[in-house]
Amino acid sequence: AVHAYTQLQTGLGALQRIEEMLAVPVEGAADRPAPVPARALPGGAPASVEFDRVGFGYPGGPPVLHEVSFTVPAGTRTALVGPSGAGKSTLLALVERFYEVTGGALRIDGVDVRDLPRDALRARIGYVEQSAPVLAGTLRENLLISAPEATEARLRAVLDEVNLGHLAERAPEGLNVQVGEGGVLLSGGERQRLAIARALLAGPPVLLLDEPTSNLDARNEAALRRAIDAVAARRTLLIVAHRLSTVVDADQIVVLDGGRVAATGTHDELTGTSPLYRELATHQLLVS
Ligand code: ATP
Repeated sequence: AVHAYTQLQTGLGALQRIEEMLAVPVEGAADRPAPVPARALPGGAPASVEFDRVGFGYPGGPPVLHEVSFTVPAGTRTALVGPSGAGKSTLLALVERFYEVTGGALRIDGVDVRDLPRDALRARIGYVEQSAPVLAGTLRENLLISAPEATEARLRAVLDEVNLGHLAERAPEGLNVQVGEGGVLLSGGERQRLAIARALLAGPPVLLLDEPTSNLDARNEAALRRAIDAVAARRTLLIVAHRLSTVVDADQIVVLDGGRVAATGTHDELTGTSPLYRELATHQLLVS
């Protein structure tokens, strides 16, 4: 990781995605010989994500996902909930093709992700981690990494959308203020909002989001909600949910248990039909 960060610092402008640098290399995941041309997927417009009897085990390990089937319709929000170890983060990693499915298929707009060149796939998928990295460098560099062409006005507008406008406003250097190591240290909530700002700038049709498990103070909590709403507009969102407000807002909730889909539905439906969901909603999801 140290090596990766050094490379990042020297090559900021050229990099499109931080995650690619930090991602675990995929084993046996070379693109298939004749990948579908990138234009088979429309950029910009939201895309559907379909899990079709997906099975998966980490290399050398036991199976962790079994016949997982559900679809996230284009432009809608799906929340994933489940006990620790149920496989929620693993599902997100499969969409990004950090790993390959070992059974079934995963499709974006009907196209098997294995038939898409990885660059084309990653250009359509944004991933906001729970502990999003902040690069040592300026605020501007941290934003331009996902949209090298963005204008000053656009950068400022996006910062306002995720409630980080104050960072540039209170520093005489504006967007050139140093952040991260050796500069303004950002709180966990601010770091995740910075990652959401990068996702907004990149504008991927599909966004994967791993919500923070920690309690945020009320201001950070409200700011995160607004940032998620901003990024969810006109986009397909798959979010590992740790908050009751997130599941209540979702179009669909998928309850995972032991690598299987235990139930799907809305909050109201699942409250009536799924004892596991009721248990999770009462004892695991943060109330904010
Ligand atoms: P949590 O809520 O605790 O983050 P989760 O539902 O996201 O849990 P995953 O992190 O997807 O669950 O883990 C599912 C299973 O896969 C677990 O048994 C876990 O130990 C295993 N696992 C996760 N990551 C790896 C890895 N990189 N290598 C091997 N096994 C892993």
